[in-house]
Amino acid sequence: MRFETKAIHAGRQVDPVTGAVTTPIHLSTTYERSHDGSYTDGFMYSRGDNPNRRSLEECLTALEEGHDCVTFSSGMAAITSIIEVLHEDKPRRIVLPDDMYFGVLTLLNETDISKKFDIVSADMTNLNALKDVVESEPTGLIWIETPSNPQIKIIDIEAVAEIAKANGAVTVVDNTTATPVLQNPLTLGADFALHSVTKYIGGHSDLLLGAVVAKEESEMLERLRTWQHAKGAVPSSFDCWLALRGVQSLSARMSVHTASAKIVAEFLSQHDKVEAVHYPGLPDHPGHDIAAKQMSDFGGLMSFQVKGSDAEALTVANAVNIFTQATSLGGTHSYIEHRSSVEKELTKAPQNLLRLSIGLENVHDLVEDLEQALDQV
Ligand code: PLP
Repeated sequence: MRFETKAIHAGRQVDPVTGAVTTPIHLSTTYERSHDGSYTDGFMYSRGDNPNRRSLEECLTALEEGHDCVTFSSGMAAITSIIEVLHEDKPRRIVLPDDMYFGVLTLLNETDISKKFDIVSADMTNLNALKDVVESEPTGLIWIETPSNPQIKIIDIEAVAEIAKANGAVTVVDNTTATPVLQNPLTLGADFALHSVTKYIGGHSDLLLGAVVAKEESEMLERLRTWQHAKGAVPSSFDCWLALRGVQSLSARMSVHTASAKIVAEFLSQHDKVEAVHYPGLPDHPGHDIAAKQMSDFGGLMSFQVKGSDAEALTVANAVNIFTQATSLGGTHSYIEHRSSVEKELTKAPQNLLRLSIGLENVHDLVEDLEQALDQV
């Protein structure tokens, strides 16, 4: 089956009891035990497993071309778990890219995790520099986020996964911004692909969920399954059901997000109040060729720098009418956000940078909205 067909059929079937085409939501927390002690359909208690979660995990496994998927109550719960389950025998050193979702930096700097691991950041667009960092000390895990949030840097997944493999490290790719429609890290050599399902996969800004898809069976995967039910940061049946509804239109939505993002990026790159546009679909983006190699298209996320400082950027963010000034990405609504105000002291984002998540509105309305907002600077 091809992507769009799997997105609609993988992990699902017509309900054998009612004939319902749409999978019912199973809210029951517990399941009847037979006299012989067995459970007829393999479900015992919904923290351990439940039909909606199982369907979602099967579907995401198929979409990422993986071996198995473990879901969590948020993207951050998935990230915490994959970091915590590093083998006891693996070095406790994690190499991070120099631009990434700042929530991961908060996790690594401001929680107990910071005491358990050595965190090093590297410019992963410079493979020789990365190699030096990885070879300088035993490394357990290399984290990749591409396109990165919010500076939209592109990392060569295949090349970094090779460096990781040669040095005995595990590669995890946060594939949230690309989605499995545009990029499949596991086929490029990564060990795990991770998603904030909250974003494009859910697609409607109405659920919170995280997923890790593993390429193959491993002790890390087995521990991840144990973490899921034993630590209990599991997604609700309703959120799994919403994610399964959302994923059915993922490919169609990504086509519109991407087509509109290209038009917006071109408009901004020609505007005299704009200093720089960061979108991998623009031929002058430093990661354009790598993105063209490893992605089937360039996605719906971009950032741009307004000429001037944070004051000019905030003037634009405050002047939009159709874009909503809000955090998050990947929804039907278009969002604009001044990242350095949100990320505060942890930010590496330039003060004049605004991130755009291009939604599904008519692109001409989006361009006109940005045009009138830029006029106010
Ligand atoms: N990864 C990326 C790239 C993100 O942008 C986010 C959230 O913004 C997360 C992970 C965390 O996901 P969640 O908000 O579902 O916990």
